[in-house]
Amino acid sequence: MIHPFISGNKWRKLKFNLIKAEQEEKTNLVTFGGAWSNHLLATACAAASYGFKSTAFVRGEDVNNEVLFLCRMFGMELRFCDRESYRDKRRLFEGHFANDLQAFFIDEGGAGAEAAKGCAELIEELDRPFDHLFCAAGTGTTAAGIINGAALGQAEAEVHVVPVLKGAGFLRDEIDKLLLKEQDYHPEYHLHLDYHFGGYAKTTPGLLDFIRGFSASTGILLDPVYTGKMMYAVFDLIEKDRFPSGTSVLAVHTGGLFGLLGMKEKFKLA
Ligand SMILES: *Cc1c(COP(=O)(O)O)cnc(C)c1O
Repeated sequence: MIHPFISGNKWRKLKFNLIKAEQEEKTNLVTFGGAWSNHLLATACAAASYGFKSTAFVRGEDVNNEVLFLCRMFGMELRFCDRESYRDKRRLFEGHFANDLQAFFIDEGGAGAEAAKGCAELIEELDRPFDHLFCAAGTGTTAAGIINGAALGQAEAEVHVVPVLKGAGFLRDEIDKLLLKEQDYHPEYHLHLDYHFGGYAKTTPGLLDFIRGFSASTGILLDPVYTGKMMYAVFDLIEKDRFPSGTSVLAVHTGGLFGLLGMKEKFKLA
């Protein structure tokens, strides 16, 4: 609901990155993502909206799809690169932009301290406290921001993080690195490691069925990569009586619905 293209958590993750880029008088936002990346689309549109150029290193072979088409419409320059060289983002950046003082590095997915700071604002905007806060996690930056935000204002809340990758126990370290040090108290947070449905961008018929049913009965779309898995976890935990009756649960819809268009066939709706 924040913006059609700079959507959800990507808007929040970009905010302080763009402010920093402007302060440093950079003119070209250089970033990284896969061919269906919500972050690339958000960066392309944000760059165009706020007077920056944008360049993206896209993982994998030269392809075109709805998301990359929109990125190009927003003037983003796409540079495809093989998976091996994609791995080291700093090195890629140095290799292409070492002597370019205009270039501003933004990590894949916008990850980092600036991004966490932007996501913490989400909690300040809530007009009441909640007992439980849910979000999906890729890098865990959004989750860290939400935990930081809750530490400042919603100390009673338990935060529930739903990783979309398999074996994402390592996220605890990644999240802990981004927690505000000056804050002596952080709310409890749980990593729910059993809702990855096989791994990143993997789905099951049960998940797809849930997403279709949820969309058809609420008017709210979910994507199979992030928000679908998060919302499935919310419903599953309710069913397992994880929350006593009367507790309030906030599920953060992190946006990013264009990925749905890459998974049309999986739904077998036609
Ligand atoms: C990128 C993205 C996430 C993951 O955010 P992290 O901060 O990397 O954990 C979650 N939901 C959606 C819709 C996204 O596009």
